[in-house]
Amino acid sequence: MSKLTIQEPAREIDVIHETDVLVVGSGPGGLPAALAAARAGAEVTLVERFGCFGGNLTVVGVEGMHWYRHEETIESDGIVREFEEKSKEMGAAAPESQSLSYEIDSEGFKLVADQFVLNEPNIRPMLHRQFVAPIMEGNVIKGIIVESKAGREAILAKRVIDATGDADVAERAGAKTFLTPKEKMMAASVMFHVAGVDKTKFMNGIKEDPQTYKDWAGGGEWNIETSGKEDDMFSPFLKKPFEQAIKDGHIPANLTTIAGTWGVMHDTGELTYMNLVQMDDCDGTDPDSLTTFEIEGRRQAMLAIDALRRYTPGCDGIRLRNFGMSIGIRDTRKVNCHYNMTSLDVREQGRFEDSIGIFPEFIDGYGILILPTTGRYFQVPYRNVLPKGIENLLVSGRSTGGDRDSHAATRNMACCAVIGQGAGIAAALSVKTGKSLKVVKVQDIQKELERQGARHH
Ligand SMILES: Cc1cc2nc3c(=O)[nH]c(=O)nc-3n(C[C@H](O)[C@H](O)[C@H](O)COP(=O)(O)OP(=O)(O)OC[C@H]3O[C@@H](n4cnc5c(N)ncnc54)[C@H](O)[C@@H]3O)c2cc1C
Repeated sequence: MSKLTIQEPAREIDVIHETDVLVVGSGPGGLPAALAAARAGAEVTLVERFGCFGGNLTVVGVEGMHWYRHEETIESDGIVREFEEKSKEMGAAAPESQSLSYEIDSEGFKLVADQFVLNEPNIRPMLHRQFVAPIMEGNVIKGIIVESKAGREAILAKRVIDATGDADVAERAGAKTFLTPKEKMMAASVMFHVAGVDKTKFMNGIKEDPQTYKDWAGGGEWNIETSGKEDDMFSPFLKKPFEQAIKDGHIPANLTTIAGTWGVMHDTGELTYMNLVQMDDCDGTDPDSLTTFEIEGRRQAMLAIDALRRYTPGCDGIRLRNFGMSIGIRDTRKVNCHYNMTSLDVREQGRFEDSIGIFPEFIDGYGILILPTTGRYFQVPYRNVLPKGIENLLVSGRSTGGDRDSHAATRNMACCAVIGQGAGIAAALSVKTGKSLKVVKVQDIQKELERQGARHH
């Protein structure tokens, strides 16, 4: 049977704004891109569908931006470090449990991000507007159409950066994208925070039975390959309460995927960044799938809380504090770029003449966990943010081109921010010099990165 369709009538749309650099999406890949472009002298517009900046950090509650950091870790400074420092300054960060870093408070970062944006007069923030279509002249992107409470509106731009995480702009502009098949996507998670934990009892319980990364092995999302050196290191991993709950009939036997990590045990009795619900087969580009798994994720989170109450010291009086505003999606489309990152690049310290940033050898995902406990790091080339086939468009964040292993490294929030800073500068310089994105001088991008305090070599 043929699919039922209707004809959408053509209509005139108001152009509400014109800008040099338009960044779509304000997550770890988008916010730094907007800041860097503004600092490089461009007029920037930052469009975001939700009411806060920060992407997964604020929307989903993913608080572990720097949890990879150990003594020997070499990493980029720049905006990603500023995020951590400013969060500390504003009381929106707490020492992280497994590394030499601070976990960023997902609620507090909403205010931190506001400050970053407001401190750059060149940025025009536009929250509550959803990108719905690109404005194209042939293969050249000229702006975007957004939908909001104000209806449909057009924004024109000299350069556009797609930081939607799902490559929404690139895909609709006609760039070639690769959607990971649903059954091979990384698990989706409904994240939550709880309140009412007795901190002393909880921490004593952790000390009495400390978990390691080796304990991640043994099923589902948590069956991992390490490089060996990670195995005996402490991990804030929780699995035993849920295994016990299955044995005692409080969690259905098929839900062996309930397991994962806790983030920070606050003095106030809040246990945040509860990354315990791992769901396979959720397609983050399909709203029906998202609907099913949002509801299922909340159900599983409540089963997890019930098990924590029963079997985890200090948790008998806990209650749900909040869910993330949205289900957390790790893996959807990646854009075919002039250079797509490879497993070898992230595992063997890839080096590139056109580097726009460095990231430590931190690989987390698709069953691999390698922590940067040595000084090894890789570079990200400019060509990796440059989609093939579409002019005036860059991509930032987790949808840059690459294979599975490389995605497990570059998807990390700090790497998305490194990529974003480079992409933002490139877009700004391209406008300033009137040169196309393809021929903007990489040495100039690198010089501006240095001026902005970010490492590229
Ligand atoms: C449950 C979970 C746990 C994770 N744990 C960690 C961790 O511990 N450490 C780590 O480093 N990484 C972790 N990650 C990965 C990391 O959060 C993401 O890879 C990263 O946030 C990607 O950044 P991004 O900017 O590309 O996308 P996002 O963070 O998804 O940001 C995209 C932004 O674009 C906006 N947007 C999307 N579409 C549109 C549209 N059409 N119009 C307007 N705006 C739009 C979104 O609202 C959002 O604000 C985790 C991910 C998940 C889901």
